[in-house]
Amino acid sequence: MLVLGIESSCDETGVALVDAAGAGVPKLRSQALHSQIEMHQAYGGVVPELASRDHIRRVLPLARHVLGEAKCDLRDVDVVAYTRGPGLAGALLVGAGVACALGAALGKPILGVHHLEGHLLSPFLSVDPPEFPFVALLVSGGHTQLMRVASVGDYELLGETIDDAAGEAFDKSAKLLGLGYPGGPALSKLSEQGRGDAFKLPRPLLHSGNLDFSFAGLKTAVLTQAKKLGSELEAHKADLAASTQAAIVEVLVKKSLAALDQTGEKRIVVAGGVGANRLLREQLNAACAKRGVRVHYPELHLCTDNGAMIAMAAAMRLQAHKEEATEVYTFDVKPRWPLAEVGGLT
Ligand code: ATP
Ligand code: MG
Ligand code: FE
Repeated sequence: MLVLGIESSCDETGVALVDAAGAGVPKLRSQALHSQIEMHQAYGGVVPELASRDHIRRVLPLARHVLGEAKCDLRDVDVVAYTRGPGLAGALLVGAGVACALGAALGKPILGVHHLEGHLLSPFLSVDPPEFPFVALLVSGGHTQLMRVASVGDYELLGETIDDAAGEAFDKSAKLLGLGYPGGPALSKLSEQGRGDAFKLPRPLLHSGNLDFSFAGLKTAVLTQAKKLGSELEAHKADLAASTQAAIVEVLVKKSLAALDQTGEKRIVVAGGVGANRLLREQLNAACAKRGVRVHYPELHLCTDNGAMIAMAAAMRLQAHKEEATEVYTFDVKPRWPLAEVGGLT
């Protein structure tokens, strides 16, 4: 079963082909990605209208490239999957519209996929895929959640951020430090030249006794510190960046360990853009090694948005009989869509 996946929820256009033969973990045949980061950089963030228009320009050439690389014809595709939500409505509509049109033209079924389920299942694209059940730490630009994942489509929310997401905390703090957009990678790079214990920054909700997060106060603390430094900021920028990163990572690691304790699981999966963060990987790996817990990540280039994770999530849902692809070619998108609402047929 060949699944063509289309991702267009935000500022990355991704297309991929995944092959689900038999009961094994589906295999990635090919994928292509176009990031709009450069286009949005001038505005300091994603401009929704520009994002939609660029998805329109990119999606079919990317699909052609993916099919060519896999030496497949469009007619070989069995299911066309697309990101149904959450995300920017206009951007989502592009992927959904193209998927629907392709499906209708080919007489093949289509399937709308939850973007976060894509992130969550992205470690299955790696050479050493996890096994169910596991705890998942979903850390992206818009979400920070801890979940217990029993199987495909069986997601229990353990805790989440009550305000900003971890990626947002990276991005907003980076912006305050004049590091541009997206701030996560930039702040993390600058941190390598600084000391994480140079400035005392808050660890919000660290001892809250539950698995919720809060990062909104952190950027205020960073701003206060930056103002205090005044003309000295430039000289201490790397230290402030490193201290910000240390604060975010400490909270993510400690809450992840608490989720492992609470559930008794021996495996954790990290997914979403912040999963690419080196300090997070180092500290989580070290803490989990001590406890005999296995940690799984997506490959670095699959941490942020991509088509492969959407094709993979669709293939795994179909394989697990959680979903039936449909030949009804009317589509909708869900800009707001809690992952816990994603159940299944069985
Ligand atoms: P969502 O999936 O919640 O809709 P999104 O798709 O925008 O949000 P992702 O593409 O998963 O989010 O991740 C992007 C986020 O990851 C950005 O906030 C970015 O700054 C952050 N990020 C990427 N690389 C790193 C890194 N190395 N360190 C820290 N943060 C990073
Ligand atoms: Mg992005
Ligand atoms: Fe994402």
